[in-house]
Amino acid sequence: MIEIENVRKSFGPLQVLKGIDLTVQKGEVLTIIGGSGSGKSTLLTCINGLEPIDSGRIKVDGTEVHAKGTDLNKLRQKLGIVFQQWNAFPHLTVRENVMLAPRKVLGIGKDEAAAIAEKQLSHVGLGDKLDVYPSRLSGGQQQRMAIARALAMSPGYMLFDEVTSALDPQLVGEVLDTLRMLASEGMTMICVTHEMKFAREVSDRVAFFSKGVMAEIGVPGQIFDAPQNPETAAFVQMTQ
Ligand code: ADP
Ligand code: MG
Repeated sequence: MIEIENVRKSFGPLQVLKGIDLTVQKGEVLTIIGGSGSGKSTLLTCINGLEPIDSGRIKVDGTEVHAKGTDLNKLRQKLGIVFQQWNAFPHLTVRENVMLAPRKVLGIGKDEAAAIAEKQLSHVGLGDKLDVYPSRLSGGQQQRMAIARALAMSPGYMLFDEVTSALDPQLVGEVLDTLRMLASEGMTMICVTHEMKFAREVSDRVAFFSKGVMAEIGVPGQIFDAPQNPETAAFVQMTQ
């Protein structure tokens, strides 16, 4: 479970998170929507400890992310994170790219790491691309490789930050299908996305962020059809 309690975060004078409270249960798919600059990405980077917070608390499976003694490397193994773009190592094959973290971070042997990579790449539909170089993949395939790379660490949680935003429209569907598959398998996921149809279909709950505040959270039917907050209403009307 991920527990976020009254988290505040500033960059210099700019308050980016203004007291976020949010709990994500095991097995839940939470989607975060909201305008550019509303603090969505910052929240994800705070959850995996890439960014410090000013106050409040974030706990992952009971471990406080920003506490002094917390082993961030160990914590990050639980949190797979995929961004808009991941620059794979160009001189390594797809399989070798996915093997890297299990080898270096978990100390897993070469053969076992290769087997893990093959399993996860097949899982995201790249079983026939193991030996090609990343530059030969389409944007959608590269994003699926990035997802496989995160899954290779057997994370308990997956955080997705606008993973389809940099893609040509015709490549968006294959990546969203991969996310749908993970959701149907019971993966606990936080997805920041602009894909409203996807958010409606796949989410257990949708959170709407506005200017550093979680203005509303609810089931997709509430957020998209009967929003309680006028800002949510304006946003979903504009984006649907
Ligand atoms: P979103 O993902 O919702 O578009 P972000 O969390 O990326 O929003 O950013 C929220 C605000 O924080 C924006 O105004 C952004 O410019 C600012 N910001 C994000 N990261 C940094 C940083 N490392 N340094 C300074 N300002 C930042
Ligand atoms: Mg962002």
